[in-house]
Amino acid sequence: MSDTARFIPSLSADEISALQLSGLKWTVAHAFEGSPFYRARLAEKGLAPGDIKDLSDITKLPFTTAQDLQTGYPLPLLSVPEERVVRIHGSSGTTGKRKILTYTQKDIDDWAGMFARCYEMAGLTVLDRVQICVGYGLWTAGAGFQLGCERFGAMALPVGPGMLDIQLQMLTDLGATCLCSTASMALLLGEEVEKQNLRGKLKLKRSIFGAEAHTRKMRQRFEEALGLEHSFDISGMTEIYGPGAGIECEAHEGIHYWADMYILEIIDPVTLLPVAPGELGEMVITSLKKEASPLIRYRTRDMTRLIPGLCPCGCGMPRHERIQGRSDDMIIFRGVNIYPGQVAAVLEKHAELNSEYQIELSRVDGLDHMVVRVEKRPGVAVSGCACDDALATAVAEDIRNQILVRSKVEVLEPGSLPRSFAKTKRVIDSRDKD
Ligand code: ZN
Repeated sequence: MSDTARFIPSLSADEISALQLSGLKWTVAHAFEGSPFYRARLAEKGLAPGDIKDLSDITKLPFTTAQDLQTGYPLPLLSVPEERVVRIHGSSGTTGKRKILTYTQKDIDDWAGMFARCYEMAGLTVLDRVQICVGYGLWTAGAGFQLGCERFGAMALPVGPGMLDIQLQMLTDLGATCLCSTASMALLLGEEVEKQNLRGKLKLKRSIFGAEAHTRKMRQRFEEALGLEHSFDISGMTEIYGPGAGIECEAHEGIHYWADMYILEIIDPVTLLPVAPGELGEMVITSLKKEASPLIRYRTRDMTRLIPGLCPCGCGMPRHERIQGRSDDMIIFRGVNIYPGQVAAVLEKHAELNSEYQIELSRVDGLDHMVVRVEKRPGVAVSGCACDDALATAVAEDIRNQILVRSKVEVLEPGSLPRSFAKTKRVIDSRDKD
């Protein structure tokens, strides 16, 4: 991070803690005052705003869940009079009604400021031309990228998603230098650029991508195809304004998050207690400045871990790892909590494998067994050769070392596992549920 940072504040750990404490006190008092929902929740625990004296008091506060957003539909968590609300955004709920969140003008301004920090972290300048290829409208994506870009002062090219021909035309004619999209959209564009041999006509240097699961291999592939110097994974969700809650820096060692805007706790999704520093757990968010829909200990269901220590880039904002999956997908195997994303992370380290996998759990004579099926990349080795066994053993050993469970690994030919455009079913659990 340069000394000329305009948007990312330079804060010490102590300064961040002080801002978090004052923001926490403010949020609890504001929610108690403005929201019947929060007031009832806090009262159930016998809590009043004055009970928050220290940052550690956060653990006394009740959790808020996606269920609470559904119950309060259509304007859940609303903590200001309606005349102060200037906008809503919604996200698709995976089940049932969509989540709708409200914004005051100050919330919109705060969000724009947070997002401007993201462009700064990604090394952009006001001379950059930013092609925004994400959804506009009810979704937060388009609005967030756009607001942030304008606040930052670069030139926004608001194309929206899809429309491959227009994307390519804008990329070449307007010479976009930064692409904002999902990873799969970047991949699609990269393939088209190669197919039409347009690489020499592009001025792209960087991309910012997020909003969906991606693999390291996918990322390398689109970086190569589009001739990028860097790509940056951005974080965020509608509940905490939208995208822009954090982003990677050029060191690419995790996502810096704006700890002066929200508190991030990592908890064990079963015991609901904080995990040890650096351990994997569920991300829980408490907003520090949100007016219209403040969050108090909101359970995101996203699994990640905090990265201890200072980033080589010098920015004092703390970091978390990229999202490793959903806590709803957790498996308990021989007393160990496992997330499918952890298996995916192990597989990524093996160049001979593609990113498909399947986990099958069974119980034989009262003992749980795990089979992990993986696929070779096309063109790798010959089937049935001894190297498949060696590869299987190496992967099983890695799983044992990283996730601390024993498994049997089966190496399959490319294309053997079932695929789906929707969410692929990665886990088959045939154990008795009693
Ligand atoms: Zn950094």
